[in-house]
Amino acid sequence: APILVWFRDDLRVSDHPALAAAATSGRPVVVLYVLDDDSPGLRPLGAASRWWLAGSLRALAAALAERGVDLVRRRGPAVRVVEAVVAETGAAEVVWNRRHDPATDAVDRAVAAALARRGVGVRSFLASLLVDPAEARTKGGTPFSVFTPFLRHLLARPAPRAPLPAPGPLRGVGGLASEPLESWGLEPKAPDWAAGFRALWTPGEAGAQARLAAFLDNGLAGYATLRDRPDRPATSRLSPHLRFGEISPFQVWAAASLAREAPRGARPSGADIDKFLAEVAWREFSYHLLAHHPELATRSFQPRFDAFPWRDDPAGLRAWQRGETGYPIVDAGMRELWRTGWMHNRVRMVVASFLVKHLLIDWREGERWFWDTLVDADPANNPASWQWVAGSGADAAPYFRIFNPVLQGEKFDPDGAYVKENIPALADVPASLIHKPFTAPPLLLRQAGVTLGETYPHPLVDHAKARARALDALATIKATE
Ligand code: FAD
Repeated sequence: APILVWFRDDLRVSDHPALAAAATSGRPVVVLYVLDDDSPGLRPLGAASRWWLAGSLRALAAALAERGVDLVRRRGPAVRVVEAVVAETGAAEVVWNRRHDPATDAVDRAVAAALARRGVGVRSFLASLLVDPAEARTKGGTPFSVFTPFLRHLLARPAPRAPLPAPGPLRGVGGLASEPLESWGLEPKAPDWAAGFRALWTPGEAGAQARLAAFLDNGLAGYATLRDRPDRPATSRLSPHLRFGEISPFQVWAAASLAREAPRGARPSGADIDKFLAEVAWREFSYHLLAHHPELATRSFQPRFDAFPWRDDPAGLRAWQRGETGYPIVDAGMRELWRTGWMHNRVRMVVASFLVKHLLIDWREGERWFWDTLVDADPANNPASWQWVAGSGADAAPYFRIFNPVLQGEKFDPDGAYVKENIPALADVPASLIHKPFTAPPLLLRQAGVTLGETYPHPLVDHAKARARALDALATIKATE
């Protein structure tokens, strides 16, 4: 009887414990992907993620075909689909890698229960996180809610296991029905908003490995000092690849750690490597939070924020979404997001802060927009990061720390190169004014081809007034503490 490998957010063949287990089982192998928009409690993927998923499934199908197995694609609630494929194939066992999201874990439990009734066993593996959230505990035996002790705990544990090699040829099972990828409508037709995505990204395992190799060669050295600069290609851009499991954190961790032994001269500093591994650990921490707070995307972690006086401002929300706030660093970020499906981390913090503090719009609105537009939209990282910026999260930035979007721009995009790349209308504005065009003499702006209110918006809010308003709003919930 065959063994069924259920692929989910682990769209790779190397370092894939479930596939490796199938390969060593000696049984014929069935590989399945289920597009599940129907199971209760699941959050359907956003549009940018669907685009990514299509490319990733194509790459996975090719890698599996090279090994002699056809990827079976089915759509529907996972319990029904997995049961059906088990019934069709007579599979004796189902294996998968765990996802560590309470919503998907509930689906997995339902699948396991349904299969148990048929006498079919399941095995699941740790593959998407270095540490199972259930296993990381403070000295007091509780889950972590502060990052630094979590990181210390992670670093004090035995080193993460070495990545597993990809399996060789497998014995497949022929004749199974598989839905054509095109029938799933994952990719845009008209308008084709994904042109900028295709120029930048190669979804799939090979693209992920190429991204990692390029980062180790050109990005890791200097990462600690340059990672906050959106005008530099200083970060790995591995986030969508990690999101869809085209590369595992074990592979990333091992490769970055190995850089400590690179020949001197080519060797990144210890600080560069430590900083990068700490960012990978933030991903672990987000999942740790999600595991213990299943409502991370819908409920403020700190209950006092339930009383926060958010403003209902559809016009403001729309201006933010479209990159028309009149603050160039904010607008550059929002336009980068729309064009490429990704945004630099520093700018994510600035745009999120602007929405939540300058516009006083509920962080959940921003989280939802990111969920739909990011190729790396992640069930843990996205809500955890939004709550961190909003000040409502565990171990969050305090709400009263309000970014000044002009100073943030001047500090992290000093020549305005990032703004100019994303807002061509501002390309000729001198660097000294690029982050505050609204302070420039109109004549000078005209010489640069800019007319405020026509070619580029006036600021939606005045920074000083917005800041004061945000602090007033905060004071109302302070009083309810
Ligand atoms: P690198 O700097 O190269 O870091 C390597 C990897 O570490 C990343 O790929 C990512 O997996 C992880 N990582 C890095 N920074 C963080 C962080 N602050 N928190 C958690 N993990 C991190 N990240 C997502 O993966 N998905 C999201 O949906 C997401 N939403 C965000 C929303 C907001 C408002 C903010 C402020 C941040 C969000 N992040 C999210 C975190 C971070 O911005 C991205 O992970 C990072 O920009 C990805 O770029 P990179 O791969 O070049 O990162």
